[in-house]
Amino acid sequence: MGTRNSHGTPAGGRGAARRLQLRFPDSDTEHQFLLSYRAAARPWIRMSLVVALTTTIGFAIIDHWLLVGARFVHPDVWRFGLQLPLVLIMMVLTGPRLYMRWYQPAIQTAAPLFGVGTVLMAAEATPEQLPLVAARLVLAAFYFYFMLGLSFQAALRTNLLLIGAYATAALLGAIAPTVAIYSLWVLVCANFIGGAGCYALEYANRVAFLERRRLAEVATHDGLTGLLNRAALEEQARSLWQHAQVARLPVSVLLIDIDHFKAYNDHYGHQAGDRCLQEVSATIRAAVRRRPLDVVARYGGEEIAAILVGSDRSEAGTTAARVLQAVSDLGIAHSGSTTRPHVTVSIGVTTVEPGGLYSHEQAVRLADIALYASKERGRDAWSFHAAAEADAAPADPALLKTAS
Ligand code: GH3
Ligand code: MG
Ligand code: MG
Repeated sequence: MGTRNSHGTPAGGRGAARRLQLRFPDSDTEHQFLLSYRAAARPWIRMSLVVALTTTIGFAIIDHWLLVGARFVHPDVWRFGLQLPLVLIMMVLTGPRLYMRWYQPAIQTAAPLFGVGTVLMAAEATPEQLPLVAARLVLAAFYFYFMLGLSFQAALRTNLLLIGAYATAALLGAIAPTVAIYSLWVLVCANFIGGAGCYALEYANRVAFLERRRLAEVATHDGLTGLLNRAALEEQARSLWQHAQVARLPVSVLLIDIDHFKAYNDHYGHQAGDRCLQEVSATIRAAVRRRPLDVVARYGGEEIAAILVGSDRSEAGTTAARVLQAVSDLGIAHSGSTTRPHVTVSIGVTTVEPGGLYSHEQAVRLADIALYASKERGRDAWSFHAAAEADAAPADPALLKTAS
């Protein structure tokens, strides 16, 4: 599998060789895929284990009913001493607390052992019983490919072990050569069919994973700047706010607006304006984000909002000063500006202290008032508007309009 290309399909660049690997070259993507695939597979696997339990008991009944023979005592040893306990252990390991950590390593041992149990039963069957018992190996092969949430590779490995064990039993003389050769060929064919299906299924799962991720990205990110969009900001802000309330952390909001951007568009053209916006956005993102929870989003037009959980007033001020400097340092010429020869931004900052009752919408409004103050002070500046000050002097809606 390759990396995601612009159309969201796998294996963009490197051709067929990569495509056959069933593995994302980027280990982070691979990890994410495995996590999401395994989490989604749990109900299916639990059901599959119930199927294994039912069929194992079903074969015990039908064997006792129809396959009465001289060497019939051992199958019950493998069945009830090995296979059934394996199924029960795996059922326990699909419990919510154990599943993500233990199921995969355990099933990769349990599945081959289960298969060996079936081979042993075939090896001990009488010549008349053997074709019937050997048919179960085919069932086991399909079961491993499709039912246990094994990757194609793990399922193939398990089945090769099964074929190896059966061939060994035949070589040791436990199985008549004619039946051995015929049933081995049936088993190999079952592996071609099951393996191809399993491969195609895993490939489709990986493509679907990339497409889902791409869709989620398109829905939450702004196409031009690559920053989070307004809707995603609102959603994240809500949960960040709750987190900050519970953890009793301060939250700072920065509202950042490019100065004289209309004049920039008028002077250099809209496409140059787009490039400028991209460059400034990337710079702001790099200058702001210091913690994993820090959020930077395109708030609208040439306005960018940042929410910093755990940033107090002084830290937010330092961040704002760093953003001003970083954008200035880009040195993007702006001959349409009446305040500087290069592109600058103005910033409004507010901090809600722990326990402050302000919602994120109110905090953005406070930052907007501060932004207006920065514009009034001549731009290329940051200003702070404290929450308590807003109580004393509620925001004038007309003033808010001119600030953006
Ligand atoms: P101020 O310093 O007061 O902020 O002045 P301004 O010109 O930046 O503010 P104003 O709100 O008058 O203009 C914002 C401009 O931003 C107008 C709009 O065309 C431009 N703009 C908004 N989004 C985009 C965009 O995606 N691409 C480009 N090129 N321009 C955009
Ligand atoms: Mg502006
Ligand atoms: Mg604006």
